[in-house]
Amino acid sequence: MIYLDNAASTRILPEVIQELVKSCEEYYGNPSSIHSAGQKAKKLLENSREVIAGLFGAEGKEIIFTSGGAEGNNLVIKGAAEAYAYKGKHIITTDIEHPTVLNTLLDLEEKGYEITYLHTDKNGLINVEELKDSLRQDTILVSVMSSNNETGVIQPIEEIGKILSKTAVFFHVDAVQSIGKDIIYPKESRISAFTASAHKFYGPKGAGIVFLDKNFLVKKQIFGGHQERNRRAGTENLNSVYGMQKALEIIYGSIFQEQMNEKRLHEYMEKRIKNEINDVVINGEEADRLNTITSLTIRGCDVQTLLVALDLRGICVSAGSACMSGAFLESPVLKAMGLSKEDLKSTIRVSIGRYNTMEEIDFFIENLKEIVKTERGE
Ligand SMILES: *Cc1c(COP(=O)(O)O)cnc(C)c1O
Repeated sequence: MIYLDNAASTRILPEVIQELVKSCEEYYGNPSSIHSAGQKAKKLLENSREVIAGLFGAEGKEIIFTSGGAEGNNLVIKGAAEAYAYKGKHIITTDIEHPTVLNTLLDLEEKGYEITYLHTDKNGLINVEELKDSLRQDTILVSVMSSNNETGVIQPIEEIGKILSKTAVFFHVDAVQSIGKDIIYPKESRISAFTASAHKFYGPKGAGIVFLDKNFLVKKQIFGGHQERNRRAGTENLNSVYGMQKALEIIYGSIFQEQMNEKRLHEYMEKRIKNEINDVVINGEEADRLNTITSLTIRGCDVQTLLVALDLRGICVSAGSACMSGAFLESPVLKAMGLSKEDLKSTIRVSIGRYNTMEEIDFFIENLKEIVKTERGE
């Protein structure tokens, strides 16, 4: 099987599996218990918190462990909306956010909040001037993703952080696609909160991180016990958090090498596709992008047919976004970038990762060429 859907999820690192199993055998107490098994578990958990905080240049108390990206985005956005409603009910975001952000904001809209959606140009980039013009007295939060899960397009986070640092507006970044591919120091970038998810960086599914600046207080969204400094109830996902820590340490330890490797594969793949298949578009091509994601419109081909045909040959890619597979809804992200109805139905996402090889890319391209030829009746 050739797995080219790393933006949807990644295969867990073998070293992480080993560490996970070991930790499950050894650490099984509840970190809230006061007996020695509980305290042993608590020590492991708090050590993971310190290590992870260190990698982000943050303090341990600024790290909240969650179940992943969806929960993290809900916690920060809803939590901020509720905590700061007394100051205002206006939130700014973009029209290309992940559904876990957009649908959370949609719910807030129904509850009386006002949301401004920043538009993107044809490369999927927002305009910082439009952001400046959208700021109001009652704006409490700006939420902009660091890189897009469908196109890989990177937003000007540093610039936004600088602008917002002169205001009282908090800045949330959905960094799920970036953490593990880029190094983010939230304090330097003046980010108030970011969200990350372990299964996007070769860790276990069901574990995530929220960095929350100590001056940014959000209302808790899951009630019960007082875990996570009373910001998220529930017995901690101790072993997966430990696995997530290990994954992050390993990824950070080789990040520049991986970036180089991925860049090489990515550039090679896009160059071959453009040279050898006519009438294709790489969406967001002119913008700064991650070295891992290619949003590819292949005119005259239907996305559903392409995905099935590739899968029959053992190649996994996806439609615009994993969240839409099965339903084949039109991608709001690509729509916002101005793709025509026809092009929306002809777009696949190819996302490479650390296990992919040049041979796999060649195999993918050879098969894609054959499938496209058949589809187009050439
Ligand atoms: C995958 C993803 C999420 C959701 O993360 P989960 O851990 O799967 O809930 C949020 N935002 C972006 C940009 C993503 O790619």
